[in-house]
Amino acid sequence: MASADGSVLAPTKPLIDPFGRAITYVRVSVTDRCDFRCVYCMSEHMSFLPKAEILSLEELDRLCSAFVRMGTRKLRLTGGEPLVRRDIMTLIRSLGRHLKTGDLDELTLTTNGSQLAKYADELRAAGVRRINVSIDTLDPAKFAEVTRWGRLPQVLDGLEAAKRAGLEVKINAVALKGVNDGEIHDMVAWCGQQGFDLTFIEVMPLGDIDGNGGAETRADQFYSLGELRRDLESRWTLRETDYRTGGPARYARVEETGRRIGFITPLTHNFCESCNRVRVTCTGTMFMCLGQEDAADLRAPLRASGDDAQLIQAIEEAIGRKPKGHDFIIDRARKGPAVGRHMSVTGG
Ligand code: SAM
Ligand code: SF4
Repeated sequence: MASADGSVLAPTKPLIDPFGRAITYVRVSVTDRCDFRCVYCMSEHMSFLPKAEILSLEELDRLCSAFVRMGTRKLRLTGGEPLVRRDIMTLIRSLGRHLKTGDLDELTLTTNGSQLAKYADELRAAGVRRINVSIDTLDPAKFAEVTRWGRLPQVLDGLEAAKRAGLEVKINAVALKGVNDGEIHDMVAWCGQQGFDLTFIEVMPLGDIDGNGGAETRADQFYSLGELRRDLESRWTLRETDYRTGGPARYARVEETGRRIGFITPLTHNFCESCNRVRVTCTGTMFMCLGQEDAADLRAPLRASGDDAQLIQAIEEAIGRKPKGHDFIIDRARKGPAVGRHMSVTGG
C-alpha cells in the first residue's frame, strides 16, 4: 500500500462492527458550503463553519487514506457542494493514487453539477469514473424554486461535459409532492435518452430548515416511494434486480429504456443489516449511522499527531459502537426533525 510520499503503509486489521458488518464505504463531506440553497436541505441564510473548524485538504487526505488503510474500498466525496471547495481537485488527484495501487476500487462524488463543465475532464483524469448528480426537476422555473440559487441550464451543460469526459452519471432526485410528482415519467424518459441511471430519494427529516423543525413542510411534500413506484408502473415496465450497494437503495430495470432506477427509502429499516458505510463531516466528525446522533471526533486525533496511530484507534473505537439500525420518523406532530443536523453537514 502506498502513502502520499510513495512509501509502503502497513494495512491495519479490517474494520468490522459489532454486528459483523465490514465497513468498506466512507462518505466524506469536504465542505458545508454550497452554491445552491435547496429548500429541503438548507435555509436561505445559512451560517457556515469557521475555517479553523474545517479539515484542511491535507487532513482530509490523511483521514481518507487512513480509512483506505483500514479496508475502505469506496470513497464518496460530498458536501455541501464538494466542487465549490477551493482547490478540491488537489485532494481528488491525490486520492486517485489509491486507485492506481489497487487499494481503492472507487473514488466518486455526489454533486449538484453546477461546476461540472469546469471539472469533468479533470475528474476523469484523476480516476473518477462515476458521479451522482442531483436534479429534482427538469423544469427550469421549478428548478430555480427548489434550489433557490441554482440554474438548470448550467447543470445541463455540466452533464454534457461529464458525458463527453466519459463519466458515468446517476441522477438523484428527491421525490416531492407538488414539485416533481407530475414529472416522474418525463424524468425516466429523459434519463433513458441520456444514458443515465436514476434514483428517487424519499425526503428525510434532517435539520431545521424553516423554523418549525421542518415538520410541516416535509409532511406536506412527502411523496412515498411506494406511491411513486405505483405511479411509474402505470407507464413503465419495472423488472426487479438483485443489484445492491449495501445502502438503502433498491433497484429495478426499466424495460423500455434499459436503465436502472433506484428507490432510496431511508425511513425504512430494511437495509441496516447490510450497512457497510460511515459518514464523516468536514469537521472530522464521524457518524456511524445517518439516523443516529452518536458520533466520534476524528479531528482531535488527526491534529494531535502527524502519525495516524491515534486516528486509527479513534476510528476503531467508534466502529465498535456502530448501532444496529436507526430510528427516523417523519411526523406532523413532531416539533422538530428526528435528527437535528442538516444533510449538507452530514453529507448525503
Ligand atoms: N450538493 C451535492 C448534491 O446536491 O448532490 C451533495 C450534497 S447533498 C446534501 C446530497 C444529496 O442529499 C442530494 O441528492 C440531495 O438532494 C439530498 N438531500 C438533501 N437534503 C435532503 C433531505 N432532507 N431528504 C432527502 N434527501 C436530501
Ligand atoms: Fe447544496 Fe446539495 Fe444541499 Fe442542494 S442538496 S443545498 S445542492 S448541498
